[in-house]
Amino acid sequence: MLAGGQTLVPAMNFRLARPAVLVDLNMIGDADRVDVEDGELRIGALARHIRFDSPVCDGPLGRLLPQMSRHIAHVPIRMRGTFGGSLAHADPASEWCALSVTLDATVLVEGPAGKRPVGARDFFLSLLTTALEAGEVVREIRLPVLEEGWSCGFREFSRRAGDFALALAVACIQVQDGCVADARIGIGGVGAAPFRSESAEAVLRGQAVSQALFNRAGEAALEGVDALHDHHATAAYRRDLARVLVARALGDAAGTVVAAGG
Ligand SMILES: Cc1cc2nc3c(=O)[nH]c(=O)nc-3n(C[C@H](O)[C@H](O)[C@H](O)COP(=O)(O)OP(=O)(O)OC[C@H]3O[C@@H](n4cnc5c(N)ncnc54)[C@H](O)[C@@H]3O)c2cc1C
Repeated sequence: MLAGGQTLVPAMNFRLARPAVLVDLNMIGDADRVDVEDGELRIGALARHIRFDSPVCDGPLGRLLPQMSRHIAHVPIRMRGTFGGSLAHADPASEWCALSVTLDATVLVEGPAGKRPVGARDFFLSLLTTALEAGEVVREIRLPVLEEGWSCGFREFSRRAGDFALALAVACIQVQDGCVADARIGIGGVGAAPFRSESAEAVLRGQAVSQALFNRAGEAALEGVDALHDHHATAAYRRDLARVLVARALGDAAGTVVAAGG
């Protein structure tokens, strides 16, 4: 299936993919709709990345999406690449995959047996591997529109602008009376699939906001996680990056002065 072609066509150029037939999803009318309904941002699978360079909704999610979108590759790639294509491809360092896991998005998939919703945390199984069955397509992604009171931060590190991140962190917190009432921390690029760091979230809940707290959450963020080791970075380097990025993304979310070490 061909969406934006920004992953599939390079794979075909390198003969890593040799499909006998290409089905062009771009012909499906209305598949790039982006709108808010019932407190959810509903993103058609064919919505291009560039669409999110500007706010597509109000509130914290509307402010977070452009921060993340601008880290995806370069403008020409963002003009063609699609939200649904990124989820279907499931690169562990994809910004949209990490966001979907962080916010417990619903991925609406459709196949010969009809439509079914899949929670983002069940959708990403491993490196480039999803819960999509043969013949199924991603139709829509539903993200909760965060209420005012939530604030979010995003950090990633890549060697060159436009490269996939070696590690990235999404931090969303709800602060009440100076304490963290709720938190969602998502990490990409470090494990075989993006994940929510429940260990970091547990450190944060109920505690008074401070950069020292955020640094502790960063230290706890990778508990029990096997970090990837490849020719881009060692596992130890990725772990250290994630520690710092989580602390800084939290600092951005809360507006505290960032003093995370490393
Ligand atoms: C130089 C470069 C840098 C990049 N940097 C980043 C980056 O920093 N962050 C990032 O997230 N991405 C990055 N990308 C990838 C880019 O975001 C792609 O657009 C994305 O991964 C795939 O989306 P696509 O629409 O282009 O999919 P395609 O290339 O058309 O398809 C990719 C795969 O997904 C399948 N597929 C596509 N859509 C669907 C669907 N709706 N349902 C089921 N299967 C589907 C296809 O069959 C194919 O197997 C980069 C790409 C390049 C070339």
